[in-house]
Amino acid sequence: MNVLIMGAPGAGKGTQAAMIAGEFGIPHISTGDALRLAVDQGTAMGQLAKGYMERGELVPDDVMNGIVRERLGQDDCRGGFLLDGFPRTVPQAEALDGILAESGRKIDRVVYLDVDRELLLERVTGRRVCRSCGATYHVRFHPPAKPGVCDKCGGELYQRKDDSAETVRTRLEEYDKKTAPLLAYYRERGVLCRIDGAKPIAEVSEDIRRCLRGPAE
Ligand code: ADP
Ligand code: ADP
Ligand code: ZN
Repeated sequence: MNVLIMGAPGAGKGTQAAMIAGEFGIPHISTGDALRLAVDQGTAMGQLAKGYMERGELVPDDVMNGIVRERLGQDDCRGGFLLDGFPRTVPQAEALDGILAESGRKIDRVVYLDVDRELLLERVTGRRVCRSCGATYHVRFHPPAKPGVCDKCGGELYQRKDDSAETVRTRLEEYDKKTAPLLAYYRERGVLCRIDGAKPIAEVSEDIRRCLRGPAE
């Protein structure tokens, strides 16, 4: 099964993607994680992406399409994959269709996590991420047992630089302008499942399972 998970910054994509990947046995491909790794490693791509990410702007389409083309060509994606954070623009969605068509594949389901603006801001500004394993927590909604320490691996939790209130504003504007139009793109193709992302984590997971096992909306 080839799945996309979509939603504004803070909607819960990463949190739910970890569940889906584990239960359905497909690789979780997060373009945000791939970019942060490239920035940390100081690769040419990382150096190019860094400024855009710090400003909360989207990284150019050709860079992103290249990353995804490369990743989807790897063997572990043959039995299905879960893309998180891509596509984020109509040209990226068109490029994705082209990449998949070359190998006779297509998108089977798009999970759209719908969350209102006020809650998104609270989610993003309270987010904490494990430096070692990438697990995501929230200071109020999903706190670790010991503050600042990852439950899963004991790693150190940190706050992403772009999770500040100012940068989030730009990221939400980018989402409204460039990413939200993709919902119509996938709805027309009959693969979109809209899910109420404001519910507690376990309930959202249950709604996603139902969507992935049954027909789209
Ligand atoms: P995204 O990948 O869409 O930006 P995350 O999965 O990182 O979103 O979630 C954003 C923040 O909200 C994190 O701190 C996470 O722990 C928290 N969170 C995710 N889903 C829920 C939920 N259903 N209820 C409450 N908090 C949530
Ligand atoms: P969030 O979890 O809050 O939705 P991500 O971790 O997915 O954020 O992305 C962080 C940043 O990485 C984005 O603000 C953007 O600068 C860049 N990025 C990630 N994926 C893409 C993409 N598909 N196209 C353009 N930029 C991207
Ligand atoms: Zn960890």
